[in-house]
Amino acid sequence: MRVMLCGMPKQRLVVIGNGMAGARVVEEVLARGGNERFKIAIFSDEASGSYDRMQLADVLNGSQDESAIVRRSFAWYQENQIQLNGGQRALLVSRPTRTVYGPAGVAEPYDKLVFATGSSPYFPPLKNLFDANGDRLSGVTGFRTLADCRTIADLATDSRRVAVIGGGLLALEAARGLSGHGCEVHLIHSGSQLMNQQLDEYAGQIVQRLVERAGIHVHLNRAVRSLLGQRRVNGLVLSDDTSMPCELVVVSTGLIPNTWLAYQCGLTVERGIAVDAELRSLDDRDIHALGECAQLRDRVHGSKDAILEQARVIAAQLMDAHSTARYHAQSAVSMKVMGLNLATVGNIRAAAARDQIAEYREPGRNRYKKIVLRERRVIGAILLGDVGAFPALSSAFESNARLSDAQLAELIAPSTTKANDWARVA
Ligand SMILES: Cc1cc2nc3c(=O)[nH]c(=O)nc-3n(C[C@H](O)[C@H](O)[C@H](O)COP(=O)(O)OP(=O)(O)OC[C@H]3O[C@@H](n4cnc5c(N)ncnc54)[C@H](O)[C@@H]3O)c2cc1C
Repeated sequence: MRVMLCGMPKQRLVVIGNGMAGARVVEEVLARGGNERFKIAIFSDEASGSYDRMQLADVLNGSQDESAIVRRSFAWYQENQIQLNGGQRALLVSRPTRTVYGPAGVAEPYDKLVFATGSSPYFPPLKNLFDANGDRLSGVTGFRTLADCRTIADLATDSRRVAVIGGGLLALEAARGLSGHGCEVHLIHSGSQLMNQQLDEYAGQIVQRLVERAGIHVHLNRAVRSLLGQRRVNGLVLSDDTSMPCELVVVSTGLIPNTWLAYQCGLTVERGIAVDAELRSLDDRDIHALGECAQLRDRVHGSKDAILEQARVIAAQLMDAHSTARYHAQSAVSMKVMGLNLATVGNIRAAAARDQIAEYREPGRNRYKKIVLRERRVIGAILLGDVGAFPALSSAFESNARLSDAQLAELIAPSTTKANDWARVA
């Protein structure tokens, strides 16, 4: 499909999803002069335009206006001649005719297609999750979108007690967002510590203290067995057989990549849409995927840092058929948790007897650094409350170089203190 504009044939680029990944790919393409090469169309099933999902808790707790988290206005799309099919879900991809179909007869032909469909909250098979009509009980929701945020804020107004199920970052963010609403907030997690994938026990305790200081009740080692209520939830039953009355339940127990559309059009889908290092589908060189819907080798790389890098790789590939850009899967992740910066890389727990741990702890300021070493090479790290050394640590991890005492002391030192005073290798 070619469109003639100003005498130059333009190709059609269609992006499905306008979250962090989809919007970022388009920005990277534009930054490389992509408007000259492509006529761009986006399908976005969220009507609210492009916003920063990572700040939803601030909207929920009222410290930010919805408008403050909008990243690209509707005018931006117009100025860049992008066809934004807002509030329109892509329903079907036809690879033989190279067309994406939306509702009400919308059809966007493509030469290049990008899947950026993200993921949806996972609802575990709780007893009584659904009412007699097969609908989820009212008052039970995920926390992923602005629409979820509005629903939760509405329901919280007439709730005395709210339960958040989960112990990961998104559960903590939901609890933080709810903590200003005048209702009791209970965080219920089946694990023995918060954020057990990203934090070790000590860092988990720092975060738990901050959560409790925000007035949130934390229940660890307790799973939710079933929900109570007919049409609207009015409580839940825990694994120790105790029950807890509550009028709102926010479920944050994991994510499922949105891959149905890719599967439907015959692409290989495992956990996510299977891609190679050029982030192309294994089945179709004209289709890319990135963000939380894509899977490289056996992993989904959906963090913010990963997505920014992936968007650069795809834009380079789209703009230059001979591009050598490749995505080098990294395990580094950075985020903000309960107001603290957190960055992790690699294996955060010693795995072998010969592994060494270098640590710096400053409890009064909630600062904690831990570097896991094997034969003086960094195999993992946690930086909580002080992430200044993150770039240097990530590159030490990537290069797999042996560290001298001085280099290690530099890495473990708090950002504002002289290096050697602080290093402690156990
Ligand atoms: C509260 C919160 C805090 C977070 N904090 C951090 C953090 O500190 N650090 C970090 O790295 N990550 C964080 N994340 C995760 C981060 O937001 C995600 O990794 C990122 O948004 C993933 O981007 P994505 O574009 O792949 O998916 P999404 O942002 O989910 O975007 C996908 C979009 O595609 C749309 N879509 C899906 N199917 C279709 C279809 N068929 N047609 C049209 N549109 C479709 C979806 O509705 C959605 O709008 C946080 C997330 C939340 C919710």
